[in-house]
Amino acid sequence: MESSHVPFLDLITPHAEMEEEIVSVFRSALRTGAFIGGQAVQEFENAFAAFCDVDHCIGVSSGTDALRFALVGAGVAGGESVLTVPNTFIATAEAISQAGARPEFIDVDERTYNMDPEKLGEYLEARCDRDERTRRPISRRTKRTISAVVPVHLYGQTCDMERILELAEAWNLIVVEDACQAHGAEYFSRRQSRWRKAGSMGTAAAFSFYPGKNLGACGEAGAVTTNDPELARWVRMLRDHGQAEKYCHDVEGYNGRLDAIQAGILHAKLRFLSAWNERRRGVALEYEQLLADASAEITLPYHPAWAKSVYHLYVIRSNIRDQLRTHLSQHNIGTGIHYPIALHLQRAYRHLGYTEGDFPISEKIAREVCSLPIYPQITREQQHKIADKISSFFLPDDKRSFSFQAIAH
Ligand SMILES: *Cc1c(COP(=O)(O)O)cnc(C)c1O
Repeated sequence: MESSHVPFLDLITPHAEMEEEIVSVFRSALRTGAFIGGQAVQEFENAFAAFCDVDHCIGVSSGTDALRFALVGAGVAGGESVLTVPNTFIATAEAISQAGARPEFIDVDERTYNMDPEKLGEYLEARCDRDERTRRPISRRTKRTISAVVPVHLYGQTCDMERILELAEAWNLIVVEDACQAHGAEYFSRRQSRWRKAGSMGTAAAFSFYPGKNLGACGEAGAVTTNDPELARWVRMLRDHGQAEKYCHDVEGYNGRLDAIQAGILHAKLRFLSAWNERRRGVALEYEQLLADASAEITLPYHPAWAKSVYHLYVIRSNIRDQLRTHLSQHNIGTGIHYPIALHLQRAYRHLGYTEGDFPISEKIAREVCSLPIYPQITREQQHKIADKISSFFLPDDKRSFSFQAIAH
């Protein structure tokens, strides 16, 4: 019992359950020679567009490329600034630089860990001037025109999009959702009085199908979603060397296509995605109940009424996070940190000129977060073991009986 390992992530079981189907995707590629593009890619694109409630999905080679192509396709140009958060995976900021722009950061909300719409508003109103010609903000910090904002739906929960979309409208900003962790997540729009899917709210959105994501390929893959047919046309060209017609290159593009085998596998797995997401929600609920006793010591995820998370990660916070992780690892329980260093403090972004203290919430989160194992196939016993070891860390047995006695007397 004690020695049974609880991995942070299980990429074996879900594929074992559908091995025959996955092998048949390979077999059909081998027998038809259709490796790049073609029907399998188109069919997956149509199915994923329907899943996200959008008109267009363009399969690409990774989430990072999806972000880059969405930004370039939506019109972000060299020399501009693009706003995002410091509490995200570096790919969000890399894509902004690769699009020729410069990342500029807005701090996150301490409860949701996502972009704080109030701070975005303050930044635009107090720290920018308006370019009267384009109606866009000019950052006083960098003197650059800000052309876009990239809200990241981190850990599987959408940002509070309403205010972000309102501000984007008021300042003529492109919105590219980083939905790389949020396949199937939903947001309740108070304005429209309906639930909206992650990836359907911005000018465009980027998804990653990296193996560990809620919908994962058996390799690298990603997608751009949008309702804008012109943007979709651009992204299709960008992923394929800037050509709409073979060897007629309208612009310089990239080699960023989705290959047919990954598309076939993703299409097969897409049928399970809603059930898997539902199962993750069940796992999260179970954690919430099991960890209720320890809730004085740790911060559990916050669930605003306007969000339906798909729990890509189950993230708790503790100010003795590192000791907690060591304790769990001694009991064979895998955990992760997403992410240990806020982007503005990464060496790669020294040239942006930020210092410690610039984004205090992101910095605090980086010191305190700990991701517990969560995947559709995790068992109740595994969750009980994890919760038990967390409780015993904060409340060792002797203390437990002591407090019990104290109450009994
Ligand atoms: C995974 C991820 C990406 C990048 O996706 P890749 O497919 O690995 O290129 C971008 N942003 C976020 C928030 C991610 O989690």
